[in-house]
Amino acid sequence: MEPELEPALRRIPSWSSLGGPEPQEISFLEERDGDSWPSPAVTTSSERLCGKRGTKASRWTKQEAVEKGEPPGVGEGPRARPAAESTGPEATFPESTPLAGVGTPAAGWDCQPPDCAASAAGSGTDDGELAAAFPASEDWGCELEGMVEERPAPCPSPQAPLLSLGWDDELQKPGAQVYMHFMQEHTCYDAMATSSKLVIFDTTLEIKKAFFALVANGVRAAPLWDSKKQSFVGMLTITDFILVLHRYYRSPLVQIYEIEEHKIETWREIYLQGCFKPLVSISPSDSLFEAVYTLIKNRIHRLPVLDPVSGTVLYILTHKRLLKFLHIFGTLLPRPSFLCRTIQDLGIGTFRDLAVVLETAPVLTALDIFVDRRVSALPVINESGQVVGLYSRFDVIHLAAQQTYNHLDMSVGEALRQRTVCLEGVLSCQPHETLGEVIDRIAREQVHRLVLVDETQHLLGVVSLSDILQALVLSPAGIDALGA
Ligand code: ADP
Ligand code: ADP
Ligand code: AMP
Repeated sequence: MEPELEPALRRIPSWSSLGGPEPQEISFLEERDGDSWPSPAVTTSSERLCGKRGTKASRWTKQEAVEKGEPPGVGEGPRARPAAESTGPEATFPESTPLAGVGTPAAGWDCQPPDCAASAAGSGTDDGELAAAFPASEDWGCELEGMVEERPAPCPSPQAPLLSLGWDDELQKPGAQVYMHFMQEHTCYDAMATSSKLVIFDTTLEIKKAFFALVANGVRAAPLWDSKKQSFVGMLTITDFILVLHRYYRSPLVQIYEIEEHKIETWREIYLQGCFKPLVSISPSDSLFEAVYTLIKNRIHRLPVLDPVSGTVLYILTHKRLLKFLHIFGTLLPRPSFLCRTIQDLGIGTFRDLAVVLETAPVLTALDIFVDRRVSALPVINESGQVVGLYSRFDVIHLAAQQTYNHLDMSVGEALRQRTVCLEGVLSCQPHETLGEVIDRIAREQVHRLVLVDETQHLLGVVSLSDILQALVLSPAGIDALGA
C-alpha cells in the first residue's frame, strides 16, 4: 500500500466509469483541467509521433502525475508538489488495507455495451469524450490515432498460445492493442518517481542486519553492491528472507545462528552454489513494454533501472508502478471493449492448482509453499474452505520486524493477527465483475492481486498484476511470458 498517495488516488477517474457517458466524471475533469491541459506533460509520445513539444519537461511531469495518481494536466500548476516531497511509492510499507466490498460494483460504473465500446478505439466515441473532457487534446488525438493504427512492434519471442478463448476473441477486435502500444511508446524513465528512497546493501553486510534494515527503512528490496567487482550483482528481497528461514529454521528452541553470522555474500554462495544469476535490470530509455516483459519473464517483482553511463540504480520498477502508470494514463486512451467483459469470460488469472494455506497451519508450512510453488501470496482458508485472509510474501517480513522468526510454529491466522499493521479480510473480486472494475480495484487498493471468490467466499482463483499486465500488454503482441 502507498499511504501517502491515497488522497491523490481517490481522484483518479476509474476505468470502469470513464468509458461511457459520465457527466460527473467529465465535469470533474473539465473543472480541474481547464488551463493546465496544454502542459507539455501530455505530449511525450505525440512529440515522437507528431513532432511537437519538449521531451524532458513532459517526462518529468508524467512522473509526477503517476506519483500523484492523476492523469497529466489534472492538478498541475500551483497545486503540484515539489519533487523533493515525493517518495517512491513502492518504497513504503503498507499502513492499512481496507476490506473490499465483495461484489459491489464500482461507484459510477457505466459500461458501454461491448460492441459499441469495441468500435470506440478507431472511431470518434472516446476521442470525442476526451476532446470534451480535455479542451486542448489535439496532440493526444494525434498520438492516440497513431497508436491505434500502428502495427505491433516485433515481439521478442514467436507467437505463443494466448489466454482463454474469450480473451483470444477480444484480441482480434480493433483497439485491443492500445495498451501494448502505449507501453511500447513510453519509457521506464516516464514511469520513475521524481524522487524516492533507495537502500543499497554491500554484499559483506550480515544478512540479519540486512533484513532488519529493510524493515527499518520501510523498503521491500535492496540492490546488492559487490565492492570487489564494483558493480551491482543482485537484489535482496523478502523472498530471500523466506529462503533463508526455509533453509535454516529447525525449531522454536534452536537459534538460527546462520542468520546471525552469515554475510549476504556467504548466503549467496551457499544458496546459489556458484551459478549466480546476473542482476536483471533495465535502462531508463527502454520501453515500459520491455519492463513488463522482463518482470514477468524472469518471474521477479523488482526491476532496477540502471543508468547506462554510471551504472547507478536510479529506481526500482514493480508491477504495481507499471499498472498504476497504465491505469492513470489509460483513462486518456480509447477504451477497449474487453474492459467491459467479465473476468469469467476473459479467463484472466489462475483458476486451477491454486496454492492455499489453512489458517490453522503453521507459518513454516506457508514458507514451504512459497518456496515450492514460487507464488507471491496464499489465500488463507478456514475449515469450511472459505477464504478468510491472504498471507503474502510481504507479510513474512513482519517476522523480522517483530523478531519472531524463531516461532514458525505459530499459525498463519495468528501471524496475520500479529501484523503491526492489522489488515482485516481479503481484497477480492467475483467472476461476474468486469475487467475494468477489477483493474480499478486492484489499482485503488494498491495490492498485487485480488482473490477470486464466489458469493459464499469459496476460492475460485487469483487475479494478479502479472496476469493483468500479461493480458493487456504482452498478449496483444502474441507473447505469453507468464505461461512460458
Ligand atoms: P519479492 O516478491 O519477495 O520482492 P522477487 O520475486 O522479486 O521477490 O524475487 C525472487 C528472487 O529473485 C529473489 O531471490 C530475489 O533476490 C531475486 N531477484 C529479484 N529481483 C531481481 C533482479 N532484478 N535481478 C536478479 N535477481 C532478482
Ligand atoms: P508487494 O508490494 O510486496 O507486492 P503485496 O501486495 O503482496 O505486496 O502485499 C502488501 C500487503 O497487502 C500485505 O500485507 C498483504 O497481506 C496485503 N494484501 C495483498 N493482497 C491482498 C488481498 N488480495 N487481500 C488482502 N490483503 C492483501
Ligand atoms: P505473481 O507472482 O503474483 O505476480 O503471479 C504470477 C502467477 O502466479 C500469476 O499467473 C498468478 O495468477 C499466479 N498465482 C499467484 N498466486 C497464486 C496462488 N496462490 N496459487 C496459484 N497461482 C498463483
